[in-house]
Amino acid sequence: MGIKDIFKKATNKLDEGKDPTCGMKINLATTKYKSIYQGKVYGFCSPGCKETFDENPYQYADPNC
Ligand SMILES: [Zn+2]
Repeated sequence: MGIKDIFKKATNKLDEGKDPTCGMKINLATTKYKSIYQGKVYGFCSPGCKETFDENPYQYADPNC
């Protein structure tokens, strides 16, 4: 495995995200809907999910992260 593959793998892992409101898999690098809560970036699949999160972020934010 070359350095490029390792970098690609690491990048993919960073981009991997989950919409905390509906549980859908999203890509943090490409999603248009993002919120920052307590220093962590959350991505969403739709503006509606982002809105839901923004209203009550403490309900959806992952306390283990
Ligand atoms: Zn969603």
